[in-house]
Amino acid sequence: MEFRAPRGTRDILPSEIGRWQHLESCFQELCRLHGFEEIRTPLFEHTELFSRSVGEESDIVSKEMYTFLDRGGRQVTLRPEGTAPVVRAYLQRGLASQPQPVKLYYYGPMFRYDRPQAGRYRQFHQVGVEMYGAGTPAADLEVISLCTSFFNRLGVNGAELQLNSVGCSRCRPPYRERLVSFLKPREELLCADCRRRHRENPLRVLDCKRPGCRRAITGAPLLAEYLCRECSEHFLALLRLLDRSNIPYRENPYLVRGLDYYTRTAFEFVPREGNDSGSLGGGGRYDDLVEYCGGPATPAVGVALGVERILLAMGEPEGDRYSPGVYIACAPGEEEAEVEALSLARELRDLGVVAEPELTGRSLRGQLKLANRKGYRRVIIIGPRELEQGLFTLRDMVGGSQREYSRSDLLAEVTRPVSGPNSE
Ligand code: AMP
Repeated sequence: MEFRAPRGTRDILPSEIGRWQHLESCFQELCRLHGFEEIRTPLFEHTELFSRSVGEESDIVSKEMYTFLDRGGRQVTLRPEGTAPVVRAYLQRGLASQPQPVKLYYYGPMFRYDRPQAGRYRQFHQVGVEMYGAGTPAADLEVISLCTSFFNRLGVNGAELQLNSVGCSRCRPPYRERLVSFLKPREELLCADCRRRHRENPLRVLDCKRPGCRRAITGAPLLAEYLCRECSEHFLALLRLLDRSNIPYRENPYLVRGLDYYTRTAFEFVPREGNDSGSLGGGGRYDDLVEYCGGPATPAVGVALGVERILLAMGEPEGDRYSPGVYIACAPGEEEAEVEALSLARELRDLGVVAEPELTGRSLRGQLKLANRKGYRRVIIIGPRELEQGLFTLRDMVGGSQREYSRSDLLAEVTRPVSGPNSE
């Protein structure tokens, strides 16, 4: 084999696409029900958009971006996440002057130069929502509850909602100072990454999974104790709303998330079974980002969920389903039968029925075998006898019973909804 896909990428094959499409349409439908509208942004942006908003010190910017110079010498980056591009579009395309809150959702590939492993790819997909102009805890709840409904509909039930408040530009700096001095005498316990970044971004150390860093933060002061009154009230109100909505959660005082732009609410959906393929998704509030990117002060909240991880958590699909369409088998080498098969297929498609006529000229037996393998429960057979009598045989591949029909009866029969396609 001469060519192979680049490391960390995958092909989504026809055998898997049904699950992807199911997930996508489920997400779209939920967004529609919640009043979110779709936005599609370019797959690449100016590098600066990410380095300034996600943060120079973040893992994404410091080591994971696909950045290159285009032929005009501009530095561009394949988008590693969806929030910054949506903020950019919100400001650039006049969405900021629309009635608030502006509620957007997106779906698509993201790119990170990460070490490939189970559930971790270099091109992966996210679904996400962003809401601008609503600063209330109820807005946070809407975003979180959209996610929990999504997981419920997909049958993902092993994800725990973990929640924290990372404060705001007023209460975070004093806490940061406090944390830096707490970590100073413990510096030798920290991993190389945390040692490097603990001065610029000490909160990130709280989130590091390495044993040394976990030991170093034992007994560390918690941000919860430093929150200003507004941040604290916001967080408590959100917890009350979650309780009253019967959405289970766990407070995790060490949750800070890997991106710099979060304020107040930060949350993640973490698989309960200690599988280390990482979180299914996460999000939170980012009340300063729109202003930071040059817009008016605008509260914002959003979430991004990893499609590959959710598909893993959904487990295996249930048993094979029969295709709702028909396969049209015809006598090999008989032009009349072929013409009839093709015209019947066209007519069925016009009636909204999936119809696949035989195209290879293999034997009738071979055609039935193929139809079976492709999962067609119903096969129309146009053999020499059928041609002579102007009839069509309809074969039920489950049990093998056959009946002959006139053309109009056949169309009526085939367009009739099948009761219980998987029964028997
Ligand atoms: P983040 O933008 O880092 O908060 O990521 C949000 C979600 O995207 C994560 O919880 C994962 O589900 C998913 N994700 C992030 N990076 C990757 C990756 N390299 N491969 C697959 N999924 C990823």
